[in-house]
Parts: sequence; C-alpha cells; structure tokens
Amino acid sequence: MLKPGDEFPYKARNGKDRIDVFTQLRKNFCDLWIDSQNATDAFRKAGYSLVNKKTGIPHSDAYVRSEALKTLKYPASQQYIEDRYAEMAKQAGYDAQATLSLLKSQANADPRELSEHVIGACRYCWGENNRYQRTQNEILIAREKFEKELNDWITEHPGKTYDKEFDIMGGIGFDPRKRPNPECCECWGYGKGRTIIKDTRDLSPEGLALYAGIKQTKDGIEVKTNSQDAARLNLIKHFGLITDRIEISDPLVKDLLAMAECLKRQGVSVEQVDKAYEEFMNSKGLVK
Ligand SMILES: [Zn+2]
Repeated sequence: MLKPGDEFPYKARNGKDRIDVFTQLRKNFCDLWIDSQNATDAFRKAGYSLVNKKTGIPHSDAYVRSEALKTLKYPASQQYIEDRYAEMAKQAGYDAQATLSLLKSQANADPRELSEHVIGACRYCWGENNRYQRTQNEILIAREKFEKELNDWITEHPGKTYDKEFDIMGGIGFDPRKRPNPECCECWGYGKGRTIIKDTRDLSPEGLALYAGIKQTKDGIEVKTNSQDAARLNLIKHFGLITDRIEISDPLVKDLLAMAECLKRQGVSVEQVDKAYEEFMNSKGLVK
C-alpha cells in the first residue's frame, strides 16, 4: 500500500528511468477521484494551485482537465487507486470474482423476468362469428342462471311456452393469453394489454441480481431494479474498454478545440459564431 511521500521508479515512455513521487496532494487527488470519479473536480479540490504562479491568472478549464487526467494516469496514482479499491472491497467483504459475477448478472438480466406488458385476445377476437366468448365456467354459471329464470317463469306462467333459448354467443374457449385476431371487428387486432408483475420466487440468478424490491406507490406497485447501465459501465471500466482520456492527434482538431476554448472564455456563443460565419460568407458573395 502506497503512503504519501512514497517513491518508486518506473520506466518512462522515452525509455529513461524516472521517479514518480507520490505526494500528499496526489493522495488527496486520488482519494477525491475515488469518491467522485471526476478527475477535474478532484484536481480542483485536492489543493493544487489553480492559478498561474507568474501571472496570477486562473488556469483555464481545459488546462485543469488536462493536468487532472495527467495526474490520474501516473503509475503511482494508478497503483494507489488500485490498492484503495482492493482495500475497500476487502473491508466490504467482497471478493473480486464474486463482484464481477454479480455485475455480469445485473448487466445481462432480462428485465422482462420481473415485469411484463403483454397483449392478449379480447373477448371477441376468437369468438364464433366474432361474438363475445366465455370460459367454460362462465358458460356453466350463465346456463344455471338462465335455467333458474326459465323455471321461475314457467312457475309464474303455467300452461305457457317459454320461447327463448340459451344464447351461447361466441362459444367456449376464451383465453386471454392467446394473441389477438387481426381480423377482429371489436379490437381490430390491437387486443387487450395487461401488465404482469412476475413471481419473484421463480427468478433466475440474473433476475435476482437485477431485482431490488417492490415499492407501493400512490399509482400502484413499482418493481425496483438495480441499474443495468451502471453495471455495464463498471464492467466496461473494469475491462479497460474505455478510458477518460481522448487522445487527440489531429492538429486541425487541436486547433479547433483551442479556438473553441478561447471563444468560450470570451463568452461567445455558438449562435454568434454561426451568424458571423454567415455574414462573412454573404459579404464575399459565397453560398453557405
Ligand atoms: Zn379482438
């Protein structure tokens, strides 16, 4: 574990041996970076001088950012941060493999394991002649009700004939899980939507890693999830797939960025630049 003031040699890019000194300021910077993951912010708060010593003029944002990223990239900084992370993980009782595997599960989980919005058939979709369809039990209950009414009517009207028959309408077989019928004259194939919150007893390890509980809100039940974006970003960072620093080698891009920084410092907006450009082109008789 590195301590403030520790020194160790490393091979510089030009092949010469250099000493990368780990100072108290650098330690402050690394600690702040670990908290915020924002190099510029950490640099500003660490205690480094933010003004030009000779002129007293404050450093530009671009300069501070560049210094901050440089400080972050030093081998001693990287090693200190790595050691701090290892120590924090140890204190929290995490081992690297288990943490990675949890992050992978969160990142790869299918959110539909937790809740789903499904579209099923409406009552008319698959009914005979596009009429109202019922389940077997619904038909049984309706038939019992019809027969009771029939018997009551016969008792009240002795000697008369009841001329109505039980209407089976669209028949038996309603199943809301079926897909809507594109030919349905009631829903026109759009069916009926239902939101389903799944049984959390049946979740896969990925689903469990994503699941963060249930919350009762005034609008109903909300299924809470751990952030998949954060898990993916952490994995990307872990595997070094992206870095904070963008290497700019094109001199034209460098000049443009310097010019943009200069205009920004002078308080010139993009719209003003655009207008000036248009006026210039017009004055020269050139089409934009
Ligand atoms: Zn329908």
